[in-house]
Amino acid sequence: MNDRATAILNGILVLPNELVNDGIAVFRGDRIVDIGPRSEVKLPERTVEIDAHGGYIAPGFVDIHVHGGDGADFMDGTAEAVVKATRAHARHGTTSIFPTTTTGAPEELHAMLSACKSARDEWTIASGAHIAGVHFYGPYFAENKVGCHPPLGRRDPDAEEYLRAFEMGIVRIATCAAEIPGALDFYEASREHGHLVTCGHSDSTWTEMAAGFERGLRHVDHFWCAMSSVSSLRNRFGTPMQGSMAEFVLMNREMSTEVIADGCHLSPELLEFAFRIKGADRLCLVTDANRGLDMPPGDYKIGPQASGEIFHSDGKVGWMPNGGLCSTVVGMDVMTRNMKHMTSASLPEAFRMSTLTPAERAGVSDEVGSLENNKRANLLILNPDLELQRVFISGQEFLA
Ligand SMILES: [Zn+2]
Ligand SMILES: [Zn+2]
Repeated sequence: MNDRATAILNGILVLPNELVNDGIAVFRGDRIVDIGPRSEVKLPERTVEIDAHGGYIAPGFVDIHVHGGDGADFMDGTAEAVVKATRAHARHGTTSIFPTTTTGAPEELHAMLSACKSARDEWTIASGAHIAGVHFYGPYFAENKVGCHPPLGRRDPDAEEYLRAFEMGIVRIATCAAEIPGALDFYEASREHGHLVTCGHSDSTWTEMAAGFERGLRHVDHFWCAMSSVSSLRNRFGTPMQGSMAEFVLMNREMSTEVIADGCHLSPELLEFAFRIKGADRLCLVTDANRGLDMPPGDYKIGPQASGEIFHSDGKVGWMPNGGLCSTVVGMDVMTRNMKHMTSASLPEAFRMSTLTPAERAGVSDEVGSLENNKRANLLILNPDLELQRVFISGQEFLA
């Protein structure tokens, strides 16, 4: 390993709570070794210097909900497909990624987990974003909330299936709809494995969420998308009207959630609302991107190439044939920029939501998510317009 240090200088450091003008980030090997204003950082001898040209020096993005990119879906189940997608996301500044399962046959899920495991174990800089864990997302969705995912691949939790998946040691985030049979045992097992336990694609009530919370539930996937509302529960139970997932998350400080800030899923006032009510330390930006990322407009499949559902990408977002939205086709650079431009979030807050907050919620913040000594040297250089210029992962530059 090269023991010469590298320093990125002449940039504004993006820290979790502040910007530092004329900052320097020094890293050696795969670790950050010094961070601070130029006046306080003493460069080691023979340091390689990289000029940020007055732009921003930021931590690499952490994406906890993402399906694919560059024509590949993680559910394709091969290491080649996985790396195609992790490379695509690195081009957008994601340095830690949680490939996300969809509904699918048990063999398809198993193939996805194995492929992610081998891609993780054989990581080189050419692989792009590090796989920090898998988000076990499908198949345990509510029947009436499968959204754009293949309905045939949906099922209720099967302990034998999920325990085998958890024992593979790569799952770090696990989703199940709170109201379906077996959900509470799933949450319990997931909590025992140290996962971020989440509810998504669900029509659950406040009461069902509260029962889940007792068993470790702490997060809800893509707020306002494929989730219950007071009016959806009125359809389920009549009156008196009941609290939904939304109220449960907004009221409970321990619950975190995520928003899709592509400008197509949620209007600026909803992004602002989620940010103001939950705060930057409980709201994660996710791409939820599918294989249409970095691909021309056209028809693609969400989920496995063999058994997935066809959707149309117009180059801005994915659409189902029935007019519903189907996941996204943009990267975390766009999401972060949108959050800054569309809401009152400060620049450090916008970045916190795509770096430290998802890292904390997924339990990897000791290692990644902010510019701090001894953390992994995952850094981005962006220009003053927040356009991505260069990406460093584990101290090595990723060249698209
Ligand atoms: Zn979804
Ligand atoms: Zn998704």
